[in-house]
Amino acid sequence: MAIRNIVIQGDPLLTKRCRPVTEFNARLHQLLDDMRDTLTEAQGAGLAAPQVGVLRRVVVVMDDEDQLLELVNPEIVSQSGEQTGPEGCLSVPGKWGMVTRPCRVKVRAQDRFGAWFEREGEELTARCFCHEIEHLDGHLYVEHIDHFLTEEELEEYFGEEDGK
Ligand code: ZN
Repeated sequence: MAIRNIVIQGDPLLTKRCRPVTEFNARLHQLLDDMRDTLTEAQGAGLAAPQVGVLRRVVVVMDDEDQLLELVNPEIVSQSGEQTGPEGCLSVPGKWGMVTRPCRVKVRAQDRFGAWFEREGEELTARCFCHEIEHLDGHLYVEHIDHFLTEEELEEYFGEEDGK
């Protein structure tokens, strides 16, 4: 088990465009294993390679069945609907902001051995696909918000969630 340090907002690594993975070797597998451990330790929903300082197009996403998806060279192939909800990021610790994302997102990606596959995600998984893939082009969710949520706003949102 290897936990990597998570890069925090302000570090130029988070603003870089990442390069595609071309070699599906032991080094990639080590990166994916470490990203899984790091995400689990941080109790996050997703993690992109630049967040651990690696400028390659690799993300891991916890789906709605708590299965960890490994996406290498992911791209969004279709999206539909719209959802607005609070979003956070392990690189922007302790903060949240309201972000509008598509409700359903289909991604195409390679697995750790290089095989292409497609995967559809809804709601939180769709949000996570968008959030993590943006990281690979040097973007953070904070670019979509007008302010960080206050304690009161967070309580209001999470308090109302069940009644919706
Ligand atoms: Zn993030």
